[in-house]
Amino acid sequence: MKFDILTIFPDFFRGPLDYGIVRRAREAGLVEIGVHDLRAFTRDRHRTVDDRPFGGGEGMVLKPEPIFECVESLGVTARDVRAGERESVVLLSPQGELFKQEVAEELARLERLVLICGRYEGVDERVSAFLADRELSIGEYVLSGGELGAAIIVDAVTRLIPGALGNEASAQQESFTRGAAAAGNGPNSTCASGGLLDYPHYTRPADFRGMTVPEVLVSGNHEEIRRWRRREALEKTVRNRPDLLDRVTLSAEDKEFIAQLEVEGGH
Ligand code: SAM
Repeated sequence: MKFDILTIFPDFFRGPLDYGIVRRAREAGLVEIGVHDLRAFTRDRHRTVDDRPFGGGEGMVLKPEPIFECVESLGVTARDVRAGERESVVLLSPQGELFKQEVAEELARLERLVLICGRYEGVDERVSAFLADRELSIGEYVLSGGELGAAIIVDAVTRLIPGALGNEASAQQESFTRGAAAAGNGPNSTCASGGLLDYPHYTRPADFRGMTVPEVLVSGNHEEIRRWRRREALEKTVRNRPDLLDRVTLSAEDKEFIAQLEVEGGH
């Protein structure tokens, strides 16, 4: 899969994409990441990428010409990934659709993903209207630029590319994982996900400063471990993200456990 990142700060990406899984995926040729300096697509002496907004108001706006020309130089046209296309042009924007695990799963099916990073007050609206096929927000807050968001999307999508994790099972049992990536993760699955938050993980030592690992995990009883993990995942999801429960397939045992939690919590 090829990622192309358009930015006025290409040096920003020296580092965040050079570690761990993303680095190994690049080295293994599973992903390729091109970082493109929008100033290289300007024509004036000052390499101007921004200008004042029409109609007045605060701040500066990224001009459309360098962005259109950069995307055109890549030979990519905006397509709708949801319609089964293999290329997509995404504008990072706090006004966009929220980037969630299921969007990452959709994007991981692409051959090419172009990520446009805005700055200042934002990007000339014609980029969103006529060039990008999608606007994505990484969360309900305003950042200074799209670069952190682009790095987050590259990381989350790369993890889902077959071969990137080494152990594919770990992607299937992570928090939020549903759909194809969670195949087999029904209510009876050993792993916690299927749309729930992940269960707690422990490693050695079993006793760290008197803080001990739950006994069930060292019992060797796989059925008990499965039940414990499922309950922990349910409890954490009820506590931190009850909204996720609407989309999860729950067994009768799950429902009984949640009802019990609600009684204990006085809900
Ligand atoms: N004026 C814009 C607004 O209020 O919606 C905010 C512009 S922001 C300061 C500058 C750029 O940062 C945006 O064009 C976008 O590319 C990026 N950005 C900021 N917050 C973001 C978020 N939550 N998700 C994705 N991109 C974001």
